[in-house]
Amino acid sequence: MTENYLEDASGLRGHADRVIVPADESAVAEALREAAAAGASVTIAGAGTGVTGGGVPFGGWVLSLEKFNRLEVRSGYAIVGAGVLLRDLHAAAQRSGQFYPPDPTETAASIGGTIATNASGSRSFKYGATRRWIESLRVVLAGPDGHPAVREFQRGDAIDFNPGAIPLPKVRKNTAGYLLRPGMDWPDLFCGSEGTLGVIAEARVRLLPIPPAILSGVLFFPTGDAALGAVEAWRGSVPGLRMLEYMDVNSLRLLRERFSAIPAEAAAALLIEDEETDVDAWLDRIAAAGVLEEASWFGMSAGDRERFRHFRHALPEIVNDTVRRNGYKKMHTDYAVPVKRNGEMLAYYRRRLEEEFPGRYVIFGHIGDAHVHINVLSGDAGPLLEEFARQAVALGGTVSAEHGLGKRKAALLALQYAPEHLEAMRAVKRRLDPHNLLGRGTLWGDGLSA
Ligand SMILES: Cc1cc2nc3c(=O)[nH]c(=O)nc-3n(C[C@H](O)[C@H](O)[C@H](O)COP(=O)(O)OP(=O)(O)OC[C@H]3O[C@@H](n4cnc5c(N)ncnc54)[C@H](O)[C@@H]3O)c2cc1C
Repeated sequence: MTENYLEDASGLRGHADRVIVPADESAVAEALREAAAAGASVTIAGAGTGVTGGGVPFGGWVLSLEKFNRLEVRSGYAIVGAGVLLRDLHAAAQRSGQFYPPDPTETAASIGGTIATNASGSRSFKYGATRRWIESLRVVLAGPDGHPAVREFQRGDAIDFNPGAIPLPKVRKNTAGYLLRPGMDWPDLFCGSEGTLGVIAEARVRLLPIPPAILSGVLFFPTGDAALGAVEAWRGSVPGLRMLEYMDVNSLRLLRERFSAIPAEAAAALLIEDEETDVDAWLDRIAAAGVLEEASWFGMSAGDRERFRHFRHALPEIVNDTVRRNGYKKMHTDYAVPVKRNGEMLAYYRRRLEEEFPGRYVIFGHIGDAHVHINVLSGDAGPLLEEFARQAVALGGTVSAEHGLGKRKAALLALQYAPEHLEAMRAVKRRLDPHNLLGRGTLWGDGLSA
């Protein structure tokens, strides 16, 4: 049984002495009490779709929230156990004519995991990250002196100590380390804390009514620069636009293995979803942007959206398979920069990737938020990806926009924040988890290894 909890989608593999699968909050508290008494660390497991190793144990005990599966949909909100899968929340919300806006494209993720990483994904262009949609949280805290406590935190509940504030990057998405900003509340703090501050047991999340119609499309471009021109033209000028995703020429080459309808002349693609379905306006935009109109795909139905999403999601899956087949460690980035530096960052990526790994990389993702993922398909890209992290920070960006840093990328935190800001975060960790019980090795390294 332990085997199932030792790895996540990053391919990192750990080890554990014991797996606990509690059925309720008091059993979680009891497990934390026992762990404190035994001096064992506790790694909280969601669904294992994380890509940075946060849920991978480096020794100690694993605590899985999979039995926390309460799911109640009401008008405007849902009450969701941490173990509920995102796809089950999406389906239940849809049956009620509503939707849950955060859309990390991996719907096999658990709600607890998406809150712990402050996941975002394709619709964050309009709706932001998970944090914005959390109304309340039930959390089990390790507590001082080995006495765990179950707490419920409402939106607006002030933190009962001063967590301090750190200078945050001026990006649209950031989940590197703890959010420490003036006026923040308890739910703000737990969102994005990557299983290091408390065990999230349940959440109340906000839902919205499904828009009456949505126009969606996969728009192909003859050059990468034409696609980037469209991004800059549309980013601030299309009010209903909720998705603006990019795929470069290498991404399309990989996808052609499965999707033969991709036009041969396409050198880039943008995926869009627009809640204002003004077809004439889109025809004008498409003509002005130089889209390969005849070869592009458009749709208005939920089925079309699902097909395009499947197309989009196939890319990271193929990338993961390719890297695994080649016998390499998954090497990818999750950096975002201020939107006005988007073009500059992309030009830097392309130039350096072509110098070091010509043709053996993909650039894709949430370009509307100036946040694309780089995956290198073969070779040791570690030094280059770290160079990219430094460049993103130099441009005012973040080293993690949506995946968190987990164990594999924990060292990047020090590129983004000064020692005194890291110390402010550590002080919060000491306050809430004084014996460093939770998520040992995640964010803070702690000198551990697999
Ligand atoms: C193909 C693919 C595509 C992806 N696309 C996106 C994307 O577009 N956007 C995006 O944001 N992410 C994306 N991801 C990453 C992943 O889906 C998210 O990180 C997700 O939020 C992880 O959820 P999980 O339940 O699998 O968590 P896990 O991987 O199990 O854990 C992740 C972290 O959360 C902590 N944790 C889990 N549950 C709890 C809890 N109840 N309480 C406290 N801490 C907890 C763990 O300790 C760990 O640190 C993608 C992943 C894959 C494989």
